[in-house]
Amino acid sequence: MTTDLAKLATDIAAGNRRALARAITLVESGRGDHRADALTLLDTLGTTQQALRIGLSGTPGVGKSTFIESFGLMLTGMGKRVAVLAVDPSSARSGGSILGDKTRMEQLSRDPLAFIRPSPSQTQLGGVARRTRDAVALCEAAGFDIVLIETVGVGQSETMVAQMADLFVLLLAPAGGDELQGVKRGIMEIADLVLVNKADGDLKAQASRTCADYAGALRLMRKRAQDPDGFPKALTVSALENNGLTGAWEAMQTLSDWRRDNHIWATTRAAQARYWFHEEVRLQLLARLAEDASLRAKLAQLEQAVTDGATSPAAAAASVIATLDS
Ligand code: GDP
Repeated sequence: MTTDLAKLATDIAAGNRRALARAITLVESGRGDHRADALTLLDTLGTTQQALRIGLSGTPGVGKSTFIESFGLMLTGMGKRVAVLAVDPSSARSGGSILGDKTRMEQLSRDPLAFIRPSPSQTQLGGVARRTRDAVALCEAAGFDIVLIETVGVGQSETMVAQMADLFVLLLAPAGGDELQGVKRGIMEIADLVLVNKADGDLKAQASRTCADYAGALRLMRKRAQDPDGFPKALTVSALENNGLTGAWEAMQTLSDWRRDNHIWATTRAAQARYWFHEEVRLQLLARLAEDASLRAKLAQLEQAVTDGATSPAAAAASVIATLDS
């Protein structure tokens, strides 16, 4: 390992935020030599330091940044070190980011106990998730107590965030009863805590009704092995008026303590490591296929054959895999 890399590791372990930012830039880089350095760095830092990783999802406008600002400041006020990362599927598609706006979380970004990093822009969501996962590991090595991983409620990104979090929080806005169906069942199934935000002013009564609806819906769902009684839970909060945030934090702690005591925390992290291993094999195999010019041509040709109905997707895939043996 180079002395530069060794120094970077030492600085991160000492909690230096600039070193952390530099290391995240390194793990986000697409260059092969940077990737090798990034892996050496992650290996050197290890995984003994652990933070509470909280995944947070919600559609644009529900108040994610307002919530993270208020909740984050509450936590730093308790002396906790808080890192905020993002997985933004829009950055994968267009290079532009919904979650990257610089004016977000203005106070928290100036807090010496906080560290905020926007979503990496990559061409694929798988790439975004991979970089964010590395960034989570770096934040843990830098001694952060809590890592918040934010995502917008679109497509596959929640599943990816849930696979790198210890707790998954779904943020919602007050809504009419018929909108309950609008939340995809899959997201409800991975949520540990549903927070109905904007429970203030004119929206307060509506927020309470929405919360009761969700509490009812959660009770109807199958009891999961990873939950104590009363979870998953629905609560109302107001990120704007700082209401309900202590209660939300208490619920998160109750749940994470219970999971630690019942060995679910470690088992879940082990299962997540397995998930990412398979995901990495898949990504790296695809990258390998794309590297080879003749294979790329073959892929294009087979894609056309599948489009034309000349061959089945399974048979076309099998002939790609067969070329790996030759
Ligand atoms: P994001 O897109 O999910 O990050 O949402 P923002 O945090 O940007 O909030 C969207 C809008 O909702 C902004 O106008 C906020 O001021 C407003 N908002 C956020 N939290 C609350 C809240 O607790 N109460 C009310 N009334 N408005 C809120």
